Amino acid sequence: MKKVSLLGATGSIGDSAIDVIKQHSDQFQLHSIAARSQWKKVLQLAKEFNVKRICIFDEQAGKELSKELGFPVLTGIEGLRELASEPEVDIVINALMGAVGCLPTLSAIEQGKHVALANKETMVMAGPVIQDALKNNPKSFITPIDSEHSAIFQCLSGRPKTEVENLQITASGGPFRDWSQDRFESITVADALNHPVWSMGKKITIDSASMMNKGLEVIEAHFLFDIPYDQIKVVVHPQSMIHSLVQFRDGSLMAQLGAPDMRIPIQVALTWPERLPLNSPRLDLASLSQFTFFAPDFQKFRCLALAFEAGKRGGVVPAMMNAANEVLVDHFLEGKLKFVDIPRHIENIMAKAPSISGRLDLKQALEADTEARKMAASLF
Ligand code: MG
Repeated sequence: MKKVSLLGATGSIGDSAIDVIKQHSDQFQLHSIAARSQWKKVLQLAKEFNVKRICIFDEQAGKELSKELGFPVLTGIEGLRELASEPEVDIVINALMGAVGCLPTLSAIEQGKHVALANKETMVMAGPVIQDALKNNPKSFITPIDSEHSAIFQCLSGRPKTEVENLQITASGGPFRDWSQDRFESITVADALNHPVWSMGKKITIDSASMMNKGLEVIEAHFLFDIPYDQIKVVVHPQSMIHSLVQFRDGSLMAQLGAPDMRIPIQVALTWPERLPLNSPRLDLASLSQFTFFAPDFQKFRCLALAFEAGKRGGVVPAMMNAANEVLVDHFLEGKLKFVDIPRHIENIMAKAPSISGRLDLKQALEADTEARKMAASLF
């Protein structure tokens, strides 16, 4: 029986992870749960799974839950780190949203855990730090949950990177795929929240609309699979049935397909290299009329171009881009800036990023994150 710590239990990945754990209750036990602030939902889960180790990031919400449960719950970043490093836990599912997920990932690695990683900001903010931590803690390993990275992980199947010609990350293109650039000025919050394929949290839905999400995934893929940026491509595939591909040096192109259902990559991340049955919708190829592909428009989707640039510049630039984006997306959701202003401000903040000598360390990553948040917040 493997004990699981689920960080980000109340979001859409959390829901799917809980369903996978339920379908395999003979193999996985929910040991601990963390959430940002939805304490009522956590209360329900705690009762259903008899979970005693709980963290609510938001202190006030944590107090409410403690009162209700009759025992104290952890709060804040230290609480998240504690749940990520619980001695009894075998697998940490990190489905936290945003840069707050970085330190818990690191804690889990330092304790030699298996990390099933859905928090892409971990790798964007501190990729080299995570790579070094994995090297120093050989018992620990990461399996990706993000559907694209799960697809690449499955296509690679442990093949050495020397055999890889390139990684091809697919993108749905989001709700503005077919909009002309002159309409971008008038994009509303409601337009941007209307994702054609996936139903997700607000932040990642906006990131999908701007294609920043794909940009973050490019950087995540670079660090997870240790593949240079000029060997990572993005291809728009509106049907979102091919979740990503690997081009090998012998000309073979491997793809992973499946219904767009996050339970599949979550289960792969938990059970790899085994494959267990999963009760979920199947892809019926004969019922699909067509598969289409085209190159992304880097003019329309400036965020995607900026992410490639941030990745190639390296150092603190990805961390600063990511932090600025988080703040700007919040402000966009509050109606304080236009959709087209998101990349404009990110570009300005990236231009101010200091260059560092040597390999990025944790302190530099955290400082860059704080600094970029300040810069972005000072615009309002
Ligand atoms: Mg994804």
